[in-house]
Amino acid sequence: MDTPMSSTIADHADGTPMEKAPPIEVNEFENLYEMAVAQFERAADLTELKPSLRAILSEPKNELIVNFPVRMDTGETIMARGYRIQHNNILGCYKGGLRFSPHVHLDEVKALAAWMTWKCALADLPFGGAKGGLQIDPAQLSPVELERVTRRFTHALGSNIGPDYDIPAPDMGTNAQTMVWMMDTYMNTIAYASKNVSRHVVTGKTVASGGSVGRDEATGRGTIYNVASWATENDVDLSGCKFAVQGYGNVGSFAARILQDEYGATLVAAQDHTGSITNPQGIEANDLADHVSANGGVGGYGKAEAEDPDEFWKTDCDIMIPAALEWQLTSTNAPQLKCRLVAEGANGPTTMAADRILQENGIDIIPDILANAGGVIVSFFEWTQNRRGETWYLDEVRHKLKRRIADAYDRVQRTRRHYGCTTREATSIAALDRVAQAYDERGIFP
Ligand code: GLU
Repeated sequence: MDTPMSSTIADHADGTPMEKAPPIEVNEFENLYEMAVAQFERAADLTELKPSLRAILSEPKNELIVNFPVRMDTGETIMARGYRIQHNNILGCYKGGLRFSPHVHLDEVKALAAWMTWKCALADLPFGGAKGGLQIDPAQLSPVELERVTRRFTHALGSNIGPDYDIPAPDMGTNAQTMVWMMDTYMNTIAYASKNVSRHVVTGKTVASGGSVGRDEATGRGTIYNVASWATENDVDLSGCKFAVQGYGNVGSFAARILQDEYGATLVAAQDHTGSITNPQGIEANDLADHVSANGGVGGYGKAEAEDPDEFWKTDCDIMIPAALEWQLTSTNAPQLKCRLVAEGANGPTTMAADRILQENGIDIIPDILANAGGVIVSFFEWTQNRRGETWYLDEVRHKLKRRIADAYDRVQRTRRHYGCTTREATSIAALDRVAQAYDERGIFP
């Protein structure tokens, strides 16, 4: 029999790391799923994962594609294509967001679903990993069209989702209103017999419709709690730090406001699809959030200079927060970074080659599945409150979130020292360790 993995990872008694993990050849992948698998395989190599588990975890358990018609306001009918990938459920129900974007494709959703498995395991949640996507541009649809497409997609997913089976949440292009439409559709069509006890079929709902306080800010807040752990570990005074944010949507704008208002750091640059802006004297993060709400992006913000988008990554700052899309930091721009820390608010913003460059340049990284775990952690709190018929206070939610992030952060650092590996490798290993232990204990049915 293969040797089972240990469930806890300890430093050597004298504090020295195990033999240093040899570096790997890294390529720029053209496919996000290939990158997710390569990251997993690296963790599997370092932990000498048994071949059977390697095979199981390399592929999602279920891949669902639905095509369905939607009536537009013009009376015309379009066909929409949706995905739901259920990667793994050894630790609990499938869990993960739904992305509405014209660029959504199967391999992207597969990568994001796999990362959800690792994210939930790392945060010690009783959830597996899933992700969904709908190939539409929400910005091109009227509110009524958006409601129709959301309800029709929910209906097409049918009993492939459920409060004790697979629980969607917001992601790029979706929000609390999307989740409320999904919940309402599910309750009225699929789960009409258990209507009043199935609102936890989705998380990230509005508070009025059963959401949790603190869910809207949770991903950005989790990113900053990680940054705070890093600052404590490295004796950095955040109040003297400058930071830059890519993406000023839900994650980026909450991260910026919390890092400024609660830790005293100064926002000096921001970038999104509408432009790049900079002000070395500081940009007021709440004022910029108001501008983004009114104008749809950071472009045109009057109290900062517009700059060439390529200049953004060269910003003179301590902390860089990519909180937009995948594959933003590549081997081309990674050498230009001047910061001390990259905290990945987005999923998969750094290619493996860029990761290696940052590491060689002595830049610390808080990898995505740790840095943006706050969202799914508070989704878990929402799910728990719905199941128990409770509503928690905001200070309770924040306190519990902080504790879970701090625990996960510490576990990653212990793993890094133990294996003598990079932080990204340690993050994958710490997550994989949880999943592998459950497989070892339960075995393979029958
Ligand atoms: N879409 C978010 C993520 O990527 C949240 C998932 C959830 O709350 O289930 O982590």
